[in-house]
Amino acid sequence: MTEALFRADAYLREAQALVVSAEPRGIVLDRTVFYPQGGGQPGDQGALILDDGSEIVIVNTVYDADRETILHAPAEGAAIPTPGAGVIARVDWDRRYKRMRAHTALHLLSVVLPYPVTGGSVGDAEGRLDFDSGDAAVEKIVVERRLNELIAVDAAVSQRWITDQELEANPALVKTMAVKPPMGTGRVRLVAIEGLDLQPCGGTHVARTGEIGRASVTQIEKKGKLNRRVRIALAGA
Ligand SMILES: [Zn+2]
Repeated sequence: MTEALFRADAYLREAQALVVSAEPRGIVLDRTVFYPQGGGQPGDQGALILDDGSEIVIVNTVYDADRETILHAPAEGAAIPTPGAGVIARVDWDRRYKRMRAHTALHLLSVVLPYPVTGGSVGDAEGRLDFDSGDAAVEKIVVERRLNELIAVDAAVSQRWITDQELEANPALVKTMAVKPPMGTGRVRLVAIEGLDLQPCGGTHVARTGEIGRASVTQIEKKGKLNRRVRIALAGA
């Protein structure tokens, strides 16, 4: 099991860690700041820096089959470190921060459009959500204006853990039908946007909604009779 430092502090750009195991398919560290692909958010990229200053480029981060061990996938042909070696794990921060802004913006989009979410994905300062919006009108200009109003509130984003039983007692907390919150470990992470939103989520978020910056609704697409796919882009996308 890898200690997931990004869960307590998404702003950590690097951390000292020890190599637990290393294969071409993935390098396992005892702790990491790299977010593994999941919940619609891509895996982080970056580098592992060895004692001699040399760098191993990491092209993706994923969970191993046990869903607890995090694999840092090295670039093809990269040197593989020795188990026990100390490294500095340094995430590609520019890219990660764009994803944190986009991810948090999608939480706000689900406030603007309070319908069941059936899918979604987080990109680099852009993203999309699919809504089961039924017959409701979903107008680009209205959604964009409301989304930017919520961003401008500059609400604080925080997290806390609850037990699986507490979540089961409050099924209304779960907005996403396609992405079930990770249960079974006994606890679930709740992400709160002060006064606006509360939902289970394992992703990385900015600390205040103002950090998201200006958002544009770039496309609203019909996906079947009852579904709308809403794409957004942020400044710097
Ligand atoms: Zn989230």
